[in-house]
Amino acid sequence: MGREIKRLDRDWLIRIIKYFEVMGFDRLPLDVPTSTCLITNSGNGSCLMKEKELLKLRKEIGDCRLCRLSEKRTNIVFGEGNPEAELMFIGEGPGADEDLQGRPFVGKAGQLLTRLITKMGFKREDVYIANIVKCRPPNNRRPREDEINACMPFLKKQIEIINPRVIMTLGDVATKTLLGEIGSISKVRGKTYRYNTIKVVPTFHPSYLLRNPNAKWLTWNDAQIALRLLGR
Ligand code: SF4
Repeated sequence: MGREIKRLDRDWLIRIIKYFEVMGFDRLPLDVPTSTCLITNSGNGSCLMKEKELLKLRKEIGDCRLCRLSEKRTNIVFGEGNPEAELMFIGEGPGADEDLQGRPFVGKAGQLLTRLITKMGFKREDVYIANIVKCRPPNNRRPREDEINACMPFLKKQIEIINPRVIMTLGDVATKTLLGEIGSISKVRGKTYRYNTIKVVPTFHPSYLLRNPNAKWLTWNDAQIALRLLGR
């Protein structure tokens, strides 16, 4: 038992050192930042490189003022999860809880999404979660076209870096933004589409499911489509 723990400690230390080496550090910093690659046990070079590119993108976004959503936001909600996720969820935009915490899907709708992720056999940190716009639209209104156009290059870059095998779009806005005007979410869900080479499975937004719990089984059907595409 004691020997096993020592081995785990050694493996953990090697992964931490490798992580900082890839990140360009020549010595270990005192404050060790959180690395999803380390948490998810994918401390491999590819994951670390992707994490580094995501950090660079976050730095480029900085204190973005490209659209009016910057005026009332508390935090930019960049997105979070495994940089090597095979499954990515894309919602519409941050709500009040997300705006306060700077993290996607952490309110009631987020708890429902987390339950779906768990039911699918993943941990939340195994997948990647982001939104079409990174700042909260006032009063939870839908993001406007010019706001979406201003913010989309950031999400496109995130998708390019992560390169998931499957994206589940959550609700009308995310689906239309990624796939174009293909119809309302209730008509297009249940099928598979493509965004570049990535398979896309549209489903209802968790906020809709909170208001319409009877539609949860349809979302579970969509989740099973995504699982089949992932070979699970
Ligand atoms: S929503 Fe996007 S484009 Fe608009 S201010 Fe926020 S980060 Fe910038």
